[in-house]
Amino acid sequence: MALRPFLPTVLIELKMQPTSPVLTPSASSMNDLCKELSRHADQISGISDWPAESLRLCGDAGVYRWFLPEHLGGYGWSETEQIKGYLRLAQADLTTTFIITQYMGAVRRIAVSENDHVMQRWLDTLVSGKRFATVGISHLTTSRRHLSQPVLRAQPASGGYSLDGLAPWVTGAPHADAYVIGATLPDNQQVLLCVPSSLDGIQAGPGHELVALSASCTDQVTFDQVHVPQDCLINGPQENVLKSATGIRTGGLQTSTLAIGLAQAAVNFLSSESAKRTELKAAADELANEVDQLTQQLLHASSGESECDSSEIRTSANRLALRSTQAALTAAKGAGFVKGHPVGRWCREALFFLVWSCPQPIANAHLCELAFGHQS
Ligand SMILES: Cc1cc2nc3c(=O)[nH]c(=O)nc-3n(C[C@H](O)[C@H](O)[C@H](O)COP(=O)(O)OP(=O)(O)OC[C@H]3O[C@@H](n4cnc5c(N)ncnc54)[C@H](O)[C@@H]3O)c2cc1C
Repeated sequence: MALRPFLPTVLIELKMQPTSPVLTPSASSMNDLCKELSRHADQISGISDWPAESLRLCGDAGVYRWFLPEHLGGYGWSETEQIKGYLRLAQADLTTTFIITQYMGAVRRIAVSENDHVMQRWLDTLVSGKRFATVGISHLTTSRRHLSQPVLRAQPASGGYSLDGLAPWVTGAPHADAYVIGATLPDNQQVLLCVPSSLDGIQAGPGHELVALSASCTDQVTFDQVHVPQDCLINGPQENVLKSATGIRTGGLQTSTLAIGLAQAAVNFLSSESAKRTELKAAADELANEVDQLTQQLLHASSGESECDSSEIRTSANRLALRSTQAALTAAKGAGFVKGHPVGRWCREALFFLVWSCPQPIANAHLCELAFGHQS
């Protein structure tokens, strides 16, 4: 992750030293963490099941430090190491891992902001897991783009901005201490703000009951004439404010990583079933091989070693998540269709990748395949 230099005062005052053990994606402590996450994953399903304990376990294991450089108290993992870590977590518990992506989305945008005030106020307690932040930015990229006026509007106001409207999708909305929020000014320039959830005029929904991942407590956050001080500004005003932060990409490989992690969980199930049911072996081997190949492509792309297009990886990852989870359901038969069996949950979770941060060309490729039976 490329990060800009920081002001020395931040370094001195944050004094952040990692206190948790450093995990590597293959360490035995990583296995222990994933085992625990997987055990909890079977118990979370509705909006009242916010996975606080799983998030605490990840915080204690130092997961939130993977994503920051050492001088900000992180472990400075490379993008490839982060992807290997996310692959392990997503196999164990997609809901918690998805929440972490949104949480770390907020942390990384704060870390590259060069805003001394915001960094000092939030960074330390966010990476230690004491506080939680999330992002509400999709209305600048993939949501509500067809409407005539922006859903979340900012007006310059004395000493800052006044926010009005709503962020339609915010994961962990009712649990957040801060929101990293995008909003549009009257001249169509955009701002990115780190907004404390305690400000007057903010209302977070409790979470929608979703087809899957309901425990992520994803809902809209409304802003009614909320005065946000200038020192909460982390980027902008400018056009395409999300593109301005170096080292930050929306969607891209991270989304594919979670889809491949889910496919791997389904393939593991299929492979273990095939050990006692030989008729499953050919399908299990074929899907295992495909997951393996796509994982290699993903890792090459993350290290910059290949020219592989990230949208091609994303389309393949979505497809593989759908196919492998449905293959696992076919193998699990009626038992897998009973509520509580992980295979049924994985099938529902695979559908999420058709809508999460899914740019139009990728959506078009899926539509073409579904309608015409072949890739565009
Ligand atoms: C579980 C979940 C968690 C998420 N978490 C976050 C998060 O934490 N942070 C974040 O920033 N984003 C988040 N997102 C948002 C996500 O990345 C996408 O932006 C979102 O799924 C896009 O869907 P939408 O319904 O808002 O799209 P829209 O394009 O707004 O479509 C909504 C509806 O509008 C209509 N419509 C669409 N296009 C047109 C058109 N051209 N003309 C007329 N009508 C049209 C259709 O009826 C459609 O159903 C999350 C999404 C989900 C599902």
